[in-house]
Amino acid sequence: MQENTSLRSTISTQSANCLALESDNRALKEKVQRTENTLEQRETTILMLERKLAESRKSVKELDQRIREEETIRRRLHNTIQELKGNIRVFCRVRPVSSSVNGSKNETATASITYPDIEGRQIEFAHAIETATGSQVAKTYPFTFDRVFQPTSTQEDVFEEISQLVQSALDGYNVCIFAYGQTGSGKTHTMEGPLNASAESMGMIPRSVHQIYENAEALKARGWTYKMEGQYVEIYNETVNDLLGNDGLNGGKKHDIRHADGKTTITDITTVVLTSPEKVAALLKKAAHNRSVGSTLMNERSSRSHCVFTLRLSGKNSITDESSEGVLNLIDLAGSERLSQSGAKGDRLKETQAINKSLSALSDVISAIANPNANTHVPYRNSKLTYLLQNSLGGNSKTLMFVNISPLRSNFNETLCSLRFATKVNACTIGTATRRAVSK
Ligand code: ADP
Ligand code: MG
Repeated sequence: MQENTSLRSTISTQSANCLALESDNRALKEKVQRTENTLEQRETTILMLERKLAESRKSVKELDQRIREEETIRRRLHNTIQELKGNIRVFCRVRPVSSSVNGSKNETATASITYPDIEGRQIEFAHAIETATGSQVAKTYPFTFDRVFQPTSTQEDVFEEISQLVQSALDGYNVCIFAYGQTGSGKTHTMEGPLNASAESMGMIPRSVHQIYENAEALKARGWTYKMEGQYVEIYNETVNDLLGNDGLNGGKKHDIRHADGKTTITDITTVVLTSPEKVAALLKKAAHNRSVGSTLMNERSSRSHCVFTLRLSGKNSITDESSEGVLNLIDLAGSERLSQSGAKGDRLKETQAINKSLSALSDVISAIANPNANTHVPYRNSKLTYLLQNSLGGNSKTLMFVNISPLRSNFNETLCSLRFATKVNACTIGTATRRAVSK
């Protein structure tokens, strides 16, 4: 009986256990089912996400492609704008009165200058002349250029106008920017700026290098990488000298200009790879130092030679396989003042003749390339300067000339000569709609 009771109790316990197990089993089955459901949902989500990712990837690729296409379009449009503005442009810049030249006495009597139009393209001088009867009459001398910069204009104002040409060089065009004018009119100030210049006083050469740097960085995203090489030479008495050599200008090396496949090289010349924009300041300092060697007065020597700064910009696009090669030349011309021929003798006479010859050769070359008659002979070989720049003048190259002038009354006659020279160059802008190939 006792055993019977015990067995019954066991059975009842076991059946209770069995019920519990069955319930556990059901719970687990439900859990498995839920997990399977979740898994299925996640798999669906993953599939959806993968589809979305593929779509996004495709659209990124399309956008990349569009950016590159738009860069090509931008280049074409930018060039069209530059051609419409004229492949030859002339800007006039009047320097402020206060600056003393070489520390000499500060002359302040200014000529009568007005700027008649609001577009900033005109400048007018008034000057008293004596008539045949001995009475004084005021005569006016009006001039119009693509832009006139008043004495209050900053380096930044001036650069804003030329930065577009710097972009053209980056896009693969050849560009020449000249500073023409008498000694002391502000050519070197415009091109180089003062030594140890601040961000505000920097001239066009360092500003160009900085801008090229920034733009090249931005173009990296579009697949473009650039290499920048700089050279700085002077042309003195029809001889090329290296301004970046280690042994001054008297190293005795002879430098020949060579042209091949539309590229210009100078034999034995120092080439500096500009790996950072800061390098340009050191480069300008070295050139200034080299110019001062073998010359008693640095400014005097530099005013009697042409200084040509050349930046070669080679770009390559790793994605599209496009490449471009542009050259930017910034030229600080020799002082345009005609030294009185009768007083000049020996070395001075030779220098004067060399300067006059090369400045007229430059004007002749610009006139010839602007001539719509494609058979016009372009006399590049008439001077070392035009020969050196032959691949950057004419064709679809861009030329900009600054005529730098002094506001002083005592400089009036020289200023008039400069403005007349610049007007002759400006007259060439009419023919620029016609492209013509560079004749070799
Ligand atoms: P150039 O090279 O034509 O002989 P410089 O550039 O040496 O003339 O200028 C003569 C002097 O006038 C320098 O002391 C220069 O700093 C100063 N100068 C020229 N243009 C400006 C300007 N726009 N603003 C301030 N100073 C100037
Ligand atoms: Mg100078």
